[in-house]
Amino acid sequence: MADDLPEPLDVIAVGAHPDDVEIAVGGTLASLVRQGYRVGIVDLTDGEPTPNSPGPEVRLAEAKAAGEILGVQVREILELPNRRLFDSFEARVALGKVFRRYRPRVVMGIADRTPMASPDHWQARQITDAAVFYSRLTKWDEHFDGLPVHTVPKQVSYPLGLRQLELPPSSGAFVVDISETLDVKLESIRAYATQFPPAKGHVFHLVEGRARMHGAAAGFAAGEVLLTSTPLGTRDPVATLLPDGPSPVGRQSK
Ligand SMILES: [Zn+2]
Repeated sequence: MADDLPEPLDVIAVGAHPDDVEIAVGGTLASLVRQGYRVGIVDLTDGEPTPNSPGPEVRLAEAKAAGEILGVQVREILELPNRRLFDSFEARVALGKVFRRYRPRVVMGIADRTPMASPDHWQARQITDAAVFYSRLTKWDEHFDGLPVHTVPKQVSYPLGLRQLELPPSSGAFVVDISETLDVKLESIRAYATQFPPAKGHVFHLVEGRARMHGAAAGFAAGEVLLTSTPLGTRDPVATLLPDGPSPVGRQSK
């Protein structure tokens, strides 16, 4: 079975619907691809039906185009039901199989509830947490088509709700610099023409405004916030705090 496995991915970003990942972390994913990482997107549902889309085929084509704009290597859309997505054993196993197949080093998922928006997002959070855990469980091969176990080393999450002032609870927040990829992010969202027709043009202002605000907080022209599920550790707090700083004064030759 292991011989049939695809090339592993560095990062998998999970969303409930095609466009969740683009809206929240499209700039981060595009930046990671440019830095040479192998990146995948998993949408738990095809996002259909929605009011302005003629059908799933169109939404799938939009998702494919958006993924190509970001440059991600893999996009998988699972067949769980939109609008009635629930944290269930079947949903956990379906996503756990994806993790076992692609062996990601980092999983990014939705952080929390999204007030006044789809309840699927909160279910996706719980499904993602469980699938990260299930991925590493031994003596359970019969549920995972014999796929080998995989331990995901690190899980982070992204805030998705636009109608909140506070960040969801976490073990820490950090900002990814997307100054170079904000335009790519916005273009990937525009690929969802059925979801963001001209009447919803304000969404682009919201997404850009949030990226500018989050970026400014860390000294970047634009940024995206990621939250850690477990605290980040470091042996070198100076290098972590000053990633672009000079080498230590103590190590510089006199
Ligand atoms: Zn969504």
